Amino acid sequence: MEYQGKSVFSGIAIGPLCLYQKADSMVKRYKIEDADAEVKRFEDAQATAKDQLQSLYDKALKEVGEANAAIFEVHQMMLDDGDYLESIINIIRTQLVNAEYAVATTGDNFAQMFAAMDDEYMQARSADIKDISNRVVQVLQGAAAGGINSDVPVILLADDLAPSETVQLDKSLVLSFVTRGGSTNSHTAILARTMSIPALIGVDFPEDLDGKTGIVDGYKGILIIDPSAEQIEEYQKKKDEDEEKKRLLLELKGKENVTLDGRKVNLYANIGGVGDVASVLQNDAGGIGLFRSEFLYLGADDYPTEDAQFQAYKTVAETMAGKKVIIRTLDIGADKQVDYFHLEKEENPAMGYRAIRICLTRPDIFKTQLRAIYRASYYGTISIMFPMIISVDEVVKCKEIVNEVKKELDEQGLPYGEVELGIMIETPAAVLMSEELAKEVDFFSIGTNDLTQYTLACDRQNAAIESFNDPHHPAVLKEIQMTIENGHKGGAWVGICGELGADTSLTETFLRMGVDELSVSPSRILAVRDVVRKLDLSK
Ligand code: PEP
Ligand code: MG
Repeated sequence: MEYQGKSVFSGIAIGPLCLYQKADSMVKRYKIEDADAEVKRFEDAQATAKDQLQSLYDKALKEVGEANAAIFEVHQMMLDDGDYLESIINIIRTQLVNAEYAVATTGDNFAQMFAAMDDEYMQARSADIKDISNRVVQVLQGAAAGGINSDVPVILLADDLAPSETVQLDKSLVLSFVTRGGSTNSHTAILARTMSIPALIGVDFPEDLDGKTGIVDGYKGILIIDPSAEQIEEYQKKKDEDEEKKRLLLELKGKENVTLDGRKVNLYANIGGVGDVASVLQNDAGGIGLFRSEFLYLGADDYPTEDAQFQAYKTVAETMAGKKVIIRTLDIGADKQVDYFHLEKEENPAMGYRAIRICLTRPDIFKTQLRAIYRASYYGTISIMFPMIISVDEVVKCKEIVNEVKKELDEQGLPYGEVELGIMIETPAAVLMSEELAKEVDFFSIGTNDLTQYTLACDRQNAAIESFNDPHHPAVLKEIQMTIENGHKGGAWVGICGELGADTSLTETFLRMGVDELSVSPSRILAVRDVVRKLDLSK
C-alpha cells in the first residue's frame, strides 16, 4: 500500500511505524452518579498502574541494576499509601466527581505538602507523587504519555507536530517524520532538515498503522506500508548509496566556500538549541547564522530565567570557539505558542501579536533575554538580530533597550563583549525600508520563510495553499535583490537564513546578487559548499 505526500527532506527510512501519542494532560472535572462504580474504576486503574511499574522494575533491574530499579518499587508502595488512597476515595464520594479529577487533585495536594516539608528526602518525594498520579490519570484516560510509544527508532506518524511537541521528542527514536498536515516551512519540516532525516507532509494515512513496517521515500514523497521483501531490498540499496554520497560530502569538510573565480561566501548554520551545535561542528559551518532562541522558551514550563538562558548562550558561544553566533531574540507567537505567555487567541496569528511586537510591549521579558545574551557575549562572538521588523522606529526602540541593558551591566560590573546588531528582513515593509534600516544596523538576515508568506499573502502553515506559496516567485527574488543592494549601500552586510538559502538551484543567483552569507540547516552546509566551489561567476 502506498500513500503519496510531499517530501520536505529527501532520503530513505525503513522501520516500524508509530503514531505520535498526543499528551492529554488536561484533567476535566465532571459529576458522577455512582460513587461505588467510580471508586472501582479508580481501583482498577491503580492495579494497572502497579502492573506497569512492576514491568518497569523488571526491565530496569535487567538493564541498569537493582539500585536504579528501586524507584519503581517505591512508586508501587506509594500507590498503596493509606492517606493517599483515603484522600482520593474521599473526594470521589463526598464531591461525587470523576476519578481522574480526584487523583490529580490529591496528587497536587500531596506534592505541595511534601515540597513544604523540612526533610530533604521527603521534599524529593513530591515529584514522585506527581509521577504516580499522572500514571494513574493516564491509565484512567486510556492514554499514554505524549511522545513516542516505542523503545526502538521508528517512522513517526502524526497529524502535525507543534514546536512545543517536537522539542520534547526523544530524537534518537525518530527515523523519519510523516504528517497529515504541515507545510514545507513548518517547524516539523525544519526539524527534519536539522536532523537530516527524510520527512513527508500532507500524507493521508489511515489510523491503524502502529507497529507495521514502513518505508519513507523522501525522493518521491511516498510512504509504503507493509513493503515486500524486494521493495525492502531495493530501498536498502538506495539508502546505502545515500550514505556513500554523504561520505563524499564529508570530504568537503575543511574546504573553503569559494567559487572557481575566487568569490567567497560565509556559510553558517541554523539551530534551535544547544543540542544542535554538535551537528553544526560536524558539518563544518563557519558560524551560526540563526539561533532560534524561542526554542528555549518552548521547551520550558515557565519563562526561562536570565541564568538559564545565559548558560545556554554561553555554552553555544564557547563551543563555537570564537566563530560568529547570531542569536535571534524571541520569536514567539503565530505558529509558536507557549501557554505561560497567555497570548489571546487571534483571528490572524501570523499577522498578530508576535516576535518583536511582544518584546517591545513586554520589555521585562525582552530585557531578561538581552541581559543573558550580553553576559554570554563575553565568552565568544555573539551577534543579536531582531525578528519581524517593519519600521526604523522599532529598531531605534530595540537599540534603546539594548543600551539600557548595557548600562545596567556596566553598573553591576558584569562584563560583555562587542555585539553586532542586525535585523531580520521578513516583511515587505522591511524590504521597502531597507535603505533606511541599513543605516541603523550592522547586518540584515533575510527570513525568506516569512518574507514569502507576507509577500504572497500565503499562510505558511496552510497546506492547502502550498502550491501558491512559491519562494521562487519573482517578487520574492526581487525583494532579495533590493535588500542586498540597499543593505550594502547603507554599510550593512546581508545574509539569507530562511529555507531558501539552502536551495542550491538558487545559489548562483544569490551569489550574483552579492549575498555575503547563507545560513542553512547544518545538514545542508556541505551540499551548498559543493555547489559554490563549482561555480564560475566570471562567465
Ligand atoms: C524565516 O522566516 O525565514 C525565518 C528564518 O524564521 P522562522 O522560520 O523561524 O520564522
Ligand atoms: Mg520568520
